[in-house]
Formats: sequence, structure tokens, C-alpha cells
Amino acid sequence: RIVYLNGSYVPETEATVSIFDRGFVMGDAVYEVTTVLGGRLIDFDGHMTRLKRSLGELRMAMPLAEAEILAAHRRLVEENGITDGMIYLQISRGNAGDRDFVFPPADTPATVVMYGWDKPGLADNPAAREGLRIITMPDLRWARRDIKTVQLLYPSLAKMEAKAQGKDDAWFVEEGTVTEGTSNNAYIVAGGRIITRPTSHDILHGITRASLLRYAREAQITIEERPFTVDEAQQADEAFITSASQFVMPVVEIDGVPVGAGRPGPVTQRLREIYLEESRKAAI
Ligand code: PLP
Repeated sequence: RIVYLNGSYVPETEATVSIFDRGFVMGDAVYEVTTVLGGRLIDFDGHMTRLKRSLGELRMAMPLAEAEILAAHRRLVEENGITDGMIYLQISRGNAGDRDFVFPPADTPATVVMYGWDKPGLADNPAAREGLRIITMPDLRWARRDIKTVQLLYPSLAKMEAKAQGKDDAWFVEEGTVTEGTSNNAYIVAGGRIITRPTSHDILHGITRASLLRYAREAQITIEERPFTVDEAQQADEAFITSASQFVMPVVEIDGVPVGAGRPGPVTQRLREIYLEESRKAAI
């Protein structure tokens, strides 16, 4: 596979980064994951807007122009023959020399990495017909989940706990309400309305979330942006998650309790179809 490292396209075995890199030593890096469908990029502009915001919140400069990032994404898609798959982008504060909590000088070059992978049949994932079974766990992440950093240890532990219990994923709960999933935003459907937590520092501002809510409003579906409890989710008609790689994915069980009929519901299925259709149309 050909990957991108700091302006060069190289075989992955040649793409190496310093042991002094702040991303490695301090988790001082941000990332984005963009979906490729039919060789085109889904919601690319949204991912770039969030990338700039994440960098800004961590006082990092955008190391290359958005047009260059777009060109690199397209080149990785082409050179690696990706039809359906993902492109990962990570930007760290770079090689800071000996370990220090203080940031290196602002002119220290960032480390920019991009690579892609194939996921054939991504939009036709059989999990969308089955639905996910999830557990809930306390949200023990840091309080700036709106910044998309590579500090993913707790979500990783949560996913492992879900798997250990024979389930698919976990939702996080804080002060009695659901924040979001390990790597996705959380929703319930009640009385035909979509209920989802409003954006704040508590959750990642999902790009799929933003696009889906826009498409749902255009389709005259009512959206209530407010926190909801686990109990409310278990009593809801339907539940689902969104993320770049899963689009809209039904949740059919929460902590062993079936949601609605225990099968993917009609609103979720319709939202999945709307999202896939509209985001493909808007893909670049
Ligand atoms: N919430 C968290 C914690 C995530 O890690 C992600 C994606 O990685 C999402 C939500 C969904 O965001 P997006 O729709 O931009 O993929």
C-alpha cells in the first residue's frame, strides 16, 4: 500500500515517524476519517472544517492547504485502487525533541500522515439488517470530546468490554444521560421524532450527524436536540448510531433490553437510505 507522510507518497514499510513525535509520546495529535464510496469522498468539506477546528482548539496550525489534503486523499484512493473504503488523516505537533510538557516552538513541522484501506461492500453492511446490541458504561473520557484527538484508550477499553460481553459496542453515560458511543453519535426515535444530544464539549460533533440532521429536516422529520437517559432509550421505538464508516446503524438492544420490536425500525431504515442517497449525491 502507498501511504502519505509529510508530502511524500511511499510504500507503508518506508513510512516511519520519530520516537520523539508528540503524537507518540503525548497523544498530541488530531485525526479525521473520511469515507470513500464509489471512489468518491463523502462529507469531505465537513471533515476539513472539523479538522481546522480541532487544530485551532489545540493551538496547532493547519500544516497544508485544504486543496492539498483533498488532492492527497484522491491520490491515495487512486494509487491504492480504493472503491469503497476509508482514508485516515492524522496531524501531530511533530518531533519535539526530548520529552517536555511545554509545546515545542510554533515553527516545529507537524507530522502529517494519510492512508487508506478498502472496505468492499461498506454501504451494504449486513449489520444494518441485524442491528447492534450495545452496553452502557460511565463516560470516563476527558471533558473536551469535541476535539478529535487520537486519545482513544477509554473508547478502546469500552469496545473491548462490549466484545467481552458478546455485544457489539458501548454507549457512554454521564450524569444520567447518554453522551455518545465509543466512535459514533447516539440517537433514539420516539413518536416519529429523532432525539439526540445537542453538540457541546461533551461529544464529538459528528460530521455524519450534521449531514443526517440536515437531510432529515429536509425530509420534514422532526428533530429534538436534547439529552436522553438509558431508560428512555430502552423504552424508545427505535435507536441508532451514526459515524462516517457506519452511516446510520440501528441499535436493537441496550444492556440486554430490546429496543422497540428488537429489530431495526422503519425510521432508522429510512434515515439510512436518505443518508446514503444524499451523501453519495454530494460526494466529491
Ligand atoms: N463520536 C465519537 C466519539 C467518534 O469517535 C466518532 C467518529 O469517529 C463519531 C462520534 C462520529 O463522527 P463522524 O460522523 O464524523 O464519523
